[in-house]
Formats: sequence, structure tokens, C-alpha cells
Amino acid sequence: MTLTKHHKKHEEQWIREQEQKIIEAMKKKKEEKIRQQLCKEEEQKRKELKELHYMHCPKCGSDMTEICLDEIIVDRCSFCEGIFFDKGELEELLRKKAEQKKSFFKKLIGF
Ligand SMILES: [Zn+2]
Repeated sequence: MTLTKHHKKHEEQWIREQEQKIIEAMKKKKEEKIRQQLCKEEEQKRKELKELHYMHCPKCGSDMTEICLDEIIVDRCSFCEGIFFDKGELEELLRKKAEQKKSFFKKLIGF
């Protein structure tokens, strides 16, 4: 193998590597674009669902109104009167109820 041939072979290999790099980069870009698109679609779906269901009863679909239950704001259906608790609200209510019970018994037995 002559030096020029050897040099040429290296050059070709280098070009192939560069092409491969470009192809990889393009693939990554495309994948990223698809991922972003899916994220956007997901977000849009979530938004539509929220608009459709927000403050509507999960059972009958009527409007929910906020009511105060022992200092906790919960959502109550204006039609079937079902109550919806946000995360942690039920636990908060039960905790308050338990405390009230405790203080009631404490008063009862004179503490
Ligand atoms: Zn309802």
C-alpha cells in the first residue's frame, strides 16, 4: 500500500465516521422532536380533560360547589350532594374529628 492510498483510506474512514455522527445527531433530534410532540399532546389532552371535568361531579356530572366542613373547604355536588375531598382533606377532617372527640371526653371526665 502506498502512502497516498493509505492516506485516502483514512480520509474515507474519517468521512464515514463524520456521516455516522451526523446521522446519529439527526436521529436524536428527531426523537427529541417526537418526544416533545408527545408531551405537548399529553398536556393538551390533560388540559381538555380538566376543562371538561373541572368542578363537575364524578358521579352525575353536575356542577360542584365549595362548602366548608369543619374549616375544610370541600367540593359538593349541587345535585346528588356527593362530596369530593382533595388530597389530604379527608385525613385533615378525620384528624380534627378525633381531636374533637378527645377533648369532648376530656371535658366529660374533668380534664
Ligand atoms: Zn353528583
